[in-house]
Amino acid sequence: PRTASEQYIASAGAHSAHNYHPLPLVITSAEGAWMTDVEGRRYLDMLAGYSALNFGHGNRRLLDAAKAQLDRVTLTSRAFHHDRFAEFCTRLAELCGKEMVLPMNTGAEAVETAVKTARKWGYKVKGVPDGRARIVVAAGNFHGRTTTIVSFSTDPEARADFGPYTPGFDVVPYGDPEALRAAVTDDTVAVLLEPIQGEAGVLVPPAGYLAGVRELTRERGILFMADEIQSGLGRTGRTFACEHEGVVPDVYVLGKALGGGVVPVSAVVADADVLGVFQPGEHGSTFGGNPLACAVGLEVIAMLSTGEFQERATELGEHLHAELGLLTGTGKVTQVRGRGLWAGVDIAPSHGTGRQVSEKLMERGVLVKDTHGATIRIAPPLVISKEDLDWGLDQLRAVLS
Ligand code: PLP
Repeated sequence: PRTASEQYIASAGAHSAHNYHPLPLVITSAEGAWMTDVEGRRYLDMLAGYSALNFGHGNRRLLDAAKAQLDRVTLTSRAFHHDRFAEFCTRLAELCGKEMVLPMNTGAEAVETAVKTARKWGYKVKGVPDGRARIVVAAGNFHGRTTTIVSFSTDPEARADFGPYTPGFDVVPYGDPEALRAAVTDDTVAVLLEPIQGEAGVLVPPAGYLAGVRELTRERGILFMADEIQSGLGRTGRTFACEHEGVVPDVYVLGKALGGGVVPVSAVVADADVLGVFQPGEHGSTFGGNPLACAVGLEVIAMLSTGEFQERATELGEHLHAELGLLTGTGKVTQVRGRGLWAGVDIAPSHGTGRQVSEKLMERGVLVKDTHGATIRIAPPLVISKEDLDWGLDQLRAVLS
């Protein structure tokens, strides 16, 4: 006889595309930093939906905001105005220090929107000849899964067999200002970067890199578009990872935590001289900026406005990195990277692959996700208690011992 988990997993395997390789557990409920599976086992969530759950599972404020809106109106489409839209856009623009917002749903859609923004801005404002606009991106990037976005991925798994590819992108090594300078031409309209590369293994660029990108893009009249979908909204101890270098990009691309793990909410945020290029009919989304998304997003913005989550990520992050730093001295871990409550931990080959460590952690009640073979990613909800974080770290030490 199979367990309930085994039955769910077999059924999912039979009737869903195999585009993921989940850890073999089946969650049925969650609260704060903890999830419970169908067998009644509890797990500490140290992944937080790839940072979509920065405020934890079942956050009271977010659920209350969602429930109140559910009873009023959930979707109007953008064919009509609704009474939560202006407030959401105004508050989000304020949080970003920008003038305008273009709401979408998923991260990939926001990145696509940023690409279209940059191209149209290039033709209409910068004066690039039609059809010639180019966007510089970084090797190792992860911006989503659409055909255009995988066209400029350097990960064969993400890209192979999905061509023909969208042209117009130049790939440079991440963190190398000279390579970036060399790649820029008169047709370059934007540089699109993750201020910290998440999926690549939480790669933090060398100090001064983002400031250098800002300087170069300003000098050459190019948009600096920061994909803060994973790095933004409190994760690194600041509202935006760019802030660590005092950098303000021209365009913020946001997603994940903007919907609080309740609904998909993403957005492109920029000044009117950039986002103002769109005219009616040129871009949109049936669900983008819907009342439910706006209600939840507004609560997320209110929570971020006090700075308390950023502070918590800073404090717990210092603790996390101090503890992980001790592991690198033991030979069990070859490198630890990250900022705030976010870490990429490279496991020494003698101590197993990232997947094996993730499976062993699962058996001990801790959930993380491996990436690129040797790395595990740690990104618990920012609401995690210090005791729970320490307990999770104890389990990692036990798995590596
Ligand atoms: N950009 C970054 C930096 C991401 O980390 C992700 C998702 O992991 C995306 C874009 C894509 O977001 P979504 O999965 O919501 O399309």
